Amino acid sequence: MPCPSPTVSTESGATILDLLEVHPFAAAHKYQPTNKAELVRAVITAGPSSLRALGSLYSLSQVTDARDVVSTERLNLHLSAPLGGTSSLTPARLRASADFLAALANADARLAGRHLIHVEAGIKVKDLLRDLRVCGLDLPTSGAGGGQSLAGALSTGTHGADFRVQVLGDWVRALHIVSSSGREVWITGANSPFGGPGVSTRPDMCADAEIIADDTVLNAARVAVGRFGVIYSMVLEVVPAYGLLEVYLQQSWPTLRSSLATSAPGTSGEFDRQLVDLESGWFRSEARERVIVKYALTQPSPDNAYDMEYIGGPRTAVHAPVTAGLEPMLFGAMLTRLGLAPLAVALRGSGVKTLHHMNTAISLADPQRCFVTRRWQVPPTLPTIQQTGVKVAKPTDRITEVVEDDANHRRPTVAVKTLRDLILDDTDQGIFGGKWAALLVKGHGIYAKADRIFEFCDEDLPRICQQHEDAGATIFEALFMVLYKLATDPILRPDSTMGAVRAVSELIGGDTISKFVRCGTASEILDTHNYALDGAQSGNSAEYFFDASDGAHLRFIDAVIALANSYAPVFGYIGLRFIPRSSALLGMPQFALTAAVEISTARSRVEDVYGAFWTDLHALANRSEGIAHWGQESRQTKEYVVDRFGTNLKAWQIALGRVAGVAPTFSTEFTRLHGLEPDSAFVEDDDDAVDRYLAGLLSAES
Ligand SMILES: Cc1cc2nc3c(=O)[nH]c(=O)nc-3n(C[C@H](O)[C@H](O)[C@H](O)COP(=O)(O)OP(=O)(O)OC[C@H]3O[C@@H](n4cnc5c(N)ncnc54)[C@H](O)[C@@H]3O)c2cc1C
Repeated sequence: MPCPSPTVSTESGATILDLLEVHPFAAAHKYQPTNKAELVRAVITAGPSSLRALGSLYSLSQVTDARDVVSTERLNLHLSAPLGGTSSLTPARLRASADFLAALANADARLAGRHLIHVEAGIKVKDLLRDLRVCGLDLPTSGAGGGQSLAGALSTGTHGADFRVQVLGDWVRALHIVSSSGREVWITGANSPFGGPGVSTRPDMCADAEIIADDTVLNAARVAVGRFGVIYSMVLEVVPAYGLLEVYLQQSWPTLRSSLATSAPGTSGEFDRQLVDLESGWFRSEARERVIVKYALTQPSPDNAYDMEYIGGPRTAVHAPVTAGLEPMLFGAMLTRLGLAPLAVALRGSGVKTLHHMNTAISLADPQRCFVTRRWQVPPTLPTIQQTGVKVAKPTDRITEVVEDDANHRRPTVAVKTLRDLILDDTDQGIFGGKWAALLVKGHGIYAKADRIFEFCDEDLPRICQQHEDAGATIFEALFMVLYKLATDPILRPDSTMGAVRAVSELIGGDTISKFVRCGTASEILDTHNYALDGAQSGNSAEYFFDASDGAHLRFIDAVIALANSYAPVFGYIGLRFIPRSSALLGMPQFALTAAVEISTARSRVEDVYGAFWTDLHALANRSEGIAHWGQESRQTKEYVVDRFGTNLKAWQIALGRVAGVAPTFSTEFTRLHGLEPDSAFVEDDDDAVDRYLAGLLSAES
């Protein structure tokens, strides 16, 4: 018999909104369990109706959509003290002072020297990173942000850009799942330390829980889009705290593309950018090419250089000469002004560090430019640098301040005045670089354009913002539409197109001075999400995965750029990341080195200006045989899934039958459309399974 609590808090008729509001839906019931027994009650109560666990609703695909949903917000504690940390977790973060991991480690030599956590599945990645920091531990890798729940991130195969480390889902050692009719299943690998008798006697495990110790079933459950049931908890392998040193640079995409084309996947060329310290080698030469040198005399010569200033941006064409005696002094003074001196000192004379992370963003509106984040592992004791050169960085622009204010997220009209000022201002601040409006009038006497700019600001701008406010759209959607209308205005273009494209590329790339170098423990560096924008944003996004060894990803990017050019201006970016093969049967990284190509664009629900672009993009991705990210938008059907995953899909369907059996509870429109249903030939259809299902339903009514 299952082990439910008598009740669970339930909201009827809940509106469910994903972060970017791409697929809102109404759920008949939203269950809000605060512990495992309530979770079991929720699953039993849902009965045969389609049910999905909700993480943070960051998925852009319909993976979360179901008749009933279970919030995992309050299942966010540790079930055992972390194993192998240097300090203890605060008691408030532990559900009980359990020592499950320590007890297993005492009894099993295979766990000696390992670092493990046992957590409830709804914990947010950012909270987990904070907990791990307290214990002197870190996640081995993660996606780009920390807003996702741990189980939600794993369930769709969330990945980052660490091309030497398997995705986080591969670090799962055991899963505790509440499946149909409230039946509990503990899944771990064959011969795993987590498959022995110490597991079934745990207080949080129901007496009739089934333990499945099978590699294929575990690899199936790693990426399962909620189809196996609700993951209540998991054992995750973590690592001792380590440091990350990140360098952020603007580059030319055509140059980087040709370099990538001749780099051996994961080993040479772009994958082999070694970092020693900040005063030599690769770092020094990249920094040196983005520097202005100031000379004491109007006839500059290398020996009268007196200052160096880091200006970020692309490589400069001319390498300003400085005599050998002055060069280190001026370069050192520049690092000091950027706030990098303590880091430079700490790294001086250190060993070669191997690149392990590379994340590239190409502006779709201006594909000549790209922005590359690279990371190397370093000791965790290095000085923390969160923002380089804060003193020299530009002040936060005015529009960012308006957008990031929570109170303005649904009030696009509050941006009207700031936008007007930015467009007409004769200073060079803000995303519109407002100078050009005034210059047109004063410098070139182009009165028709000037008149139109004033008309745009007086009439179009307030109207666009009002329309978006009336439609319940976000401030970001209105900003996008203002920019798009400016860029495509028949009177103002091409000047306005250039201004808007420049502004968007700046938004995508950000400030390459203040983001130049970051350094800290992984738990401080991994999460790059800007939480101030949650609720203000909107967009469309898809991600497709390719074998990085045969250039398919580069050909796909070429085709996406050509497509974007035919729909210009497309305001968005292409992201390129590399990851090793995953052991998850339905993981997107199916190749020794997999290239993940993400395409994201701005979106307005008032006018879908990129609808046709997206239709063509998904068709292109399908023709190019890209594997779609489970948590992003895609137009892949069962046939594509069969084609991409082949025998892995079959093995996954068999494992599903073994865990979730005949019950329809976790079947949804998404899983049926994508063929994520049990293989009927292998479904456990014995009397026990049916009895268990009926018993669960009956106990729901008792
Ligand atoms: C701003 C942003 C940044 C992103 N960055 C990245 C990135 O860097 N890399 C990347 O790969 N993806 C990225 N994504 C996609 C995102 O990581 C995935 O869609 C992820 O699944 C979202 O996690 P979530 O907690 O929000 O889960 P949800 O979106 O709420 O759910 C996703 C799936 O997991 C299931 N699920 C959730 N909890 C459980 C549970 N306890 N048991 C069983 N199933 C469960 C749900 O039912 C659903 O099927 C990003 C998305 C956004 C919006």
